[in-house]
Amino acid sequence: MPDRPMLKCPLCPQKEGPYYSHTSSLLRHVQTKHYTPTSYKCKSCGKFYHRRDNLLTHIHLHHGGIEADAPNLKERLDPPERCPICQIPLGSWGKFKKCIVMHAILDEEL
Ligand SMILES: [Zn+2]
Ligand SMILES: [Zn+2]
Ligand SMILES: [Zn+2]
Repeated sequence: MPDRPMLKCPLCPQKEGPYYSHTSSLLRHVQTKHYTPTSYKCKSCGKFYHRRDNLLTHIHLHHGGIEADAPNLKERLDPPERCPICQIPLGSWGKFKKCIVMHAILDEEL
């Protein structure tokens, strides 16, 4: 049976998945769960939040800020310095994604 390749997130510890049949959905998972290329930053204290509503709560509780400021707070983050699995130096999100996809496939073949 010609099956599509199954990809497993190499950053999730459990053996039983989640599995993905497309690199795009694997990468979407990696970038929401493990490494986000953008993040919401509190301008008052520099704390990062992956979700806008979490930042809004933070601003409200700690700084009494205006919620309308929040859409401008999204910042592009640097990719991890090294691959979390094989430790090779990265330098761009493109390299990071390639490495993650490669590990996802290798993991499946084991
Ligand atoms: Zn994962
Ligand atoms: Zn803050
Ligand atoms: Zn790697």
